[in-house]
Amino acid sequence: MEGTLTARDKVGVQDFVLLDAYTSESAFLDNLRKRFSENLIYTYIGTLLVSVNPYQELGIYTMSQMELYQGVNFFELPPHVYAIADNAYRMMCSELSNHFILISGESGAGKTEASKKILQYFAMTCPMTESLQIARDRLLLSNPVLEAFGNARTLRNDNSSRFGKYMDVQFDFKLLEGGEEELLAYLGLERDPKLYKYLSQGHGANESSINDKNDWKTVSNAFSVIDFTEDDLENLFGIIASILHLGNVCFGENHQGCAIIPVTHEIKWIAKLLGVQPSVLLEALTHRKIETKTEEVICPLTLELSLYARDAMAKAVYGRMFTWLVNKINSSLVNKEFTKKTVIGLLDIYGFEVFDKNGFEQFCINYCNEKLQQLLIERTLKAEQAEYEMEGIEWEPIQYFNNKIICDLVEERHKGIISILDEECIRPGPATDLSFLEKLEEKVGKHAHFQTRKLAGPKGRKRIGWMEFRLFHYAGEVTYCTKGFLEKNSDLLYRHLKEVLCRSKNSILKECFLVAELENRRRSPTVGTQFKNSLSSLLEILISKEPSYIRCIKPNERKEPSKFDDFLIRHQVKYLGLMEHLRVRRAGFAYRRKYEHFLQRYKSLCPDTWPHWQGPPAEGVERLIKYIGYKPEEYKLGRFIKGFINRDKPLCPDNEEFI
Ligand code: ATP
Ligand code: MG
Repeated sequence: MEGTLTARDKVGVQDFVLLDAYTSESAFLDNLRKRFSENLIYTYIGTLLVSVNPYQELGIYTMSQMELYQGVNFFELPPHVYAIADNAYRMMCSELSNHFILISGESGAGKTEASKKILQYFAMTCPMTESLQIARDRLLLSNPVLEAFGNARTLRNDNSSRFGKYMDVQFDFKLLEGGEEELLAYLGLERDPKLYKYLSQGHGANESSINDKNDWKTVSNAFSVIDFTEDDLENLFGIIASILHLGNVCFGENHQGCAIIPVTHEIKWIAKLLGVQPSVLLEALTHRKIETKTEEVICPLTLELSLYARDAMAKAVYGRMFTWLVNKINSSLVNKEFTKKTVIGLLDIYGFEVFDKNGFEQFCINYCNEKLQQLLIERTLKAEQAEYEMEGIEWEPIQYFNNKIICDLVEERHKGIISILDEECIRPGPATDLSFLEKLEEKVGKHAHFQTRKLAGPKGRKRIGWMEFRLFHYAGEVTYCTKGFLEKNSDLLYRHLKEVLCRSKNSILKECFLVAELENRRRSPTVGTQFKNSLSSLLEILISKEPSYIRCIKPNERKEPSKFDDFLIRHQVKYLGLMEHLRVRRAGFAYRRKYEHFLQRYKSLCPDTWPHWQGPPAEGVERLIKYIGYKPEEYKLGRFIKGFINRDKPLCPDNEEFI
């Protein structure tokens, strides 16, 4: 066993479940660090894959690697994203139902890269009929399309998938730098992205590592494969260009303090591209329609509200166009054979976010993670229990923190934080971020997982803008500033602007803004409620399946290879809930294998089973285990197919050189 121990010291264990000090965060980090320094970026916790972004090409995604992982037992090879992909594929085939792979982690941790690798794996290895092959090609190609539209460049990641975030759409279309001359002229655009306010607002527009010219080619190629007509393309680019122009519209103020907009070429371009009257557009951007019981009054907007209306319009147009694009791609994938068959869904989800200042956006993201954590723990526990019962092994209930209490605090109808926020947004009278905080204090102030903190301003007076509340999440406490909560939650498009968009001659916009919506007098749901609803439908789908999980970790803030920032990683280990997950997994027997696989793998360790064992596999395993010296309490032999061991040392397949 000397050799194995040395290897283990060097490269760590490939499954955290096999760690001796499994409750220690430091041991967890040590193991991750050891492996990372050996360029082993993947480690399991049972069937969950932990991945650390290497920020360099490691040569581990070759064709021969793909072949290696095909149809192989999950634990027989070193951990890899291909093993997850292959397992998902086989689950899908054997259960004939859809399968989901949930990928989470913070910005720049490698979520999108992981999903690309999975897609490539499917494309290369799955046997398919010709028509399915086409559908797959489309799926792969639709990826650059979505990326070009949905991705923004942020400081933390050159290729950040902001569209996964549901809100706070930032505008950064790669289209621009690589686009063809005539197209730009047709849209009234200049090539230099710095000229567009919506593009230059974000950080680092110039420090890009992305090859825009090449990306542009891939994108336009992809469009032709996914059934986009010339008209679609023209309309789509028209919308994007009009958003960019919209960001550059000049606003002024008249003597009464009302917003005015001169008819500049931007306004003319927007009107032309969207197929609306310039005067109608101008009025809608600077006025608001208020309906009383008997009449409709048109009120001028202040400069501030007018700017707000403009941004809300840009976001709504962009958001709905994006949804349209996704639907369009999906329907192009609808190929009879493909839909009849099951699919594998890849969900790239933001991990827990904790910054120095946390706002509405972090609140939503963390709530989403809270729900996913609940799903993961419940599913893992249930699956464990079911397996034990099936094998006739006694199940001892384990203690774990059930975070349902926090989910309820956020989402419960009439009582939860989202409901309280909605009430404040809807009620007549002056509601503010402060009055919202006071409502929170009144209604949930005594909740065990909630705290408010009013920081005193000068002379002990309360100061708006310093309002904070704190939630005790499963992963730790987070302090949120209520500034902007009300506005962000009711980020609604003024009716006046909606009318303009519904009357647009642009056929995509027409599909995005249906006239029926105007006739419906009911208020549309708030951002928080929309988020809650879409999350709950997502969970409804997930709860019925056993999803696979990939947790991605960013090793350092500087995008540097081989740099393992302990502090940063410890933080992510905590917020990804990895220790909690490990505890749940370890509550059972760490190592379990089908008898046949058990024997096949370890028969050389016992003279009775080497080179061939003739009897029933279960008996062979028992003989082997006893020979090695396991005590009765250290293993269990399942009734049917598996052996369970809770001490790994002699058998641990942790030596990557083994393979
Ligand atoms: P966001 O949440 O902002 O969208 P993300 O988690 O999707 O971030 P990625 O875009 O997948 O992050 O990864 C960021 C960058 O890290 C990639 O552009 C790539 O350069 C590098 N990277 C990520 N994973 C790998 C990997 N497995 N091998 C090599 N480089 C990687
Ligand atoms: Mg991404």
